[in-house]
This record gives sequence, C-alpha cells and structure tokens, in this order.
Amino acid sequence: MRKVQGNDSFQRMNYLYQISKDMADKNPILSAYYGNLIIGVAKKTVLKVHPDIKRQLCKKCRCFLVHNVTANMKIKKKNKSKTVELQCSTCGAKRSFPAKTDKDYRVWVEKPDAVVEVIH
Ligand SMILES: [Zn+2]
Repeated sequence: MRKVQGNDSFQRMNYLYQISKDMADKNPILSAYYGNLIIGVAKKTVLKVHPDIKRQLCKKCRCFLVHNVTANMKIKKKNKSKTVELQCSTCGAKRSFPAKTDKDYRVWVEKPDAVVEVIH
C-alpha cells in the first residue's frame, strides 16, 4: 500500500462516498448533498477525487448516479468505439465517457476501492 497523506480527509471522503451511494435510491437530493461535500472536501485538501468516483457523481447536482435508479444509461456505438451516456434523473444533466467494454463499465461501478488519491 502506498502512503496516504491527509488521512483524515481521505477517511472523510470515503465516509461521504458511502453515504452518498446509500442514499442514491432512497433520497437523491441527500445523495447530491453528500456528493457536493465530497467535492468540497477535495477542494480544501491536497486530495483529489478519484476519476472513477467523479464519473459516478452527476457533474451538475452531484447526485450519485446509479443505473436505473438515479440515472438512465445508454451505450452508444460508433464504429468500434463505445460511449456510455448517463443521464441524471434528478436534474437531467447528461454526461458521457468512452467505454471499451461493458465489463469495464461494471468494474468501476461496482468496485471503486480507491476513492481518492494524492496529488504529488
Ligand atoms: Zn444531476
């Protein structure tokens, strides 16, 4: 394991992340609230939000995006490349990102082990 600086913030973000995730299907507004806190903590510290986590938060309202719960997911194919498009059900904002395979998509959705990382 690599050494983590700003450990308190790291744990706080992990904690907020879990709450945001848990709240997604119960209360999207609260989920968005905690999503905003994650971004807030990241801005105050040297920590940055892991790209995988950023992808799971709506870029507009910061609600935790869960397929078929708080977001609608479409996979668009263009030639050989695939794009995953997520639309937030709370505020309607869309975001898309490249996906090599469906399997890759599931990996970061279901197993986001590393929530934050340190900027050097
Ligand atoms: Zn949203």
